[in-house]
Amino acid sequence: MAFFITDKCVGCTACELVCPVDAINGVKKELYFIDPKICIDCGACGRACPYDAILDTYGDLAVKVRRTEWPKPVVIDEICSGCKYCIDICPFDCLSLEDVEGQPWTAVARLTNPKTCVSCYLCEAACDKGAIVLMAPENVAPAASKRFQ
Ligand code: SF4
Ligand code: SF4
Ligand code: SF4
Repeated sequence: MAFFITDKCVGCTACELVCPVDAINGVKKELYFIDPKICIDCGACGRACPYDAILDTYGDLAVKVRRTEWPKPVVIDEICSGCKYCIDICPFDCLSLEDVEGQPWTAVARLTNPKTCVSCYLCEAACDKGAIVLMAPENVAPAASKRFQ
């Protein structure tokens, strides 16, 4: 199953703008639709829709969530190898390699463009080491949370 847009849709485009895989199409101010063959069930559209028009994978109404409360990727420096898999897969160019403070010979992935992150989990899924994990903003250590702003 995939996410699904109901006839409550007013064609505001909010969902289309956050979909990381371009699964959503439509004409502005008309009913939008999701291609179930492309949707990866990330939930971004459901969190973004202001009109309660999107059902999740289980047929339940997706709840709108303020963007500042969406989960964000946090990198575990000790595990990250700097392979760039997560950086390359991110559809919104949110991640970059950065030197670790005090260790200029070590570069790790960082969320350098947090405002464009849609919390799609593609980066987390791409990392076979488990070095990048999405966390709710309130569960992130203060040093990391500064990067979300
Ligand atoms: S965000 Fe909701 S109302 Fe707006 S286009 Fe998407 S489904 Fe329709
Ligand atoms: S659940 Fe994610 S991948 Fe599927 S249509 Fe919504 S934003 Fe796109
Ligand atoms: S969750 Fe990861 S892959 Fe998805 S938009 Fe955010 S940084 Fe990019």
